[in-house]
Amino acid sequence: MEEIRENDEYQELSEKITALQAELDELWDHAAEVIVSDDLNKKENIGALWAAFGEDVPNSRVAEVVDCHEQYPGRLVFNPETETVDYKDHVKQRKENQVRTDHRQKILERDGNACVRCGVSAGDGEAELTIHHIVPVSDDGSAEPENLATLCSDCHSSVHDEYGSGEVFYSTNTGFWQWVREGDRGFDPHHTQQNLDTF
Ligand SMILES: [Zn+2]
Repeated sequence: MEEIRENDEYQELSEKITALQAELDELWDHAAEVIVSDDLNKKENIGALWAAFGEDVPNSRVAEVVDCHEQYPGRLVFNPETETVDYKDHVKQRKENQVRTDHRQKILERDGNACVRCGVSAGDGEAELTIHHIVPVSDDGSAEPENLATLCSDCHSSVHDEYGSGEVFYSTNTGFWQWVREGDRGFDPHHTQQNLDTF
């Protein structure tokens, strides 16, 4: 490598590449000003960018310009005829597969109206209880009680945050319950059969 670095031709090329990358960054900033509009939502802005530059624009660039999570553009699909974007089928299905209200109530009751991991309950100040799909819907996770668990909003976001809203940090069901056990409450409803019998 040492020899290559001292090579004049390499030096010159390397400087050119750096300069071009800087220029490309500038062009993207400019493109953002021209195409991206405050009047449009993120989804519509992504559609406008794809309509203008094609879908080959790297998601990381799109995310930067539109100010969304890097995985968000990957959930969308572009329709060249209408020049609009829509959610991919599995994302739509997730939206349809949202836990029904009565079902949600049963899960909350089963889990004692508290976060299975940290034990924060609905009555504790700011805590908001959410129903988590252990196997994500995007990975064909079901809306059956076995696949659902009550988490407070804090615990829920620590499951998802690093990986974007659709992904989780664990790779197996066991991994999820392991993480739950590390919390202050560490409650596993599946170990108390009577709770499951209510379904
Ligand atoms: Zn919690």
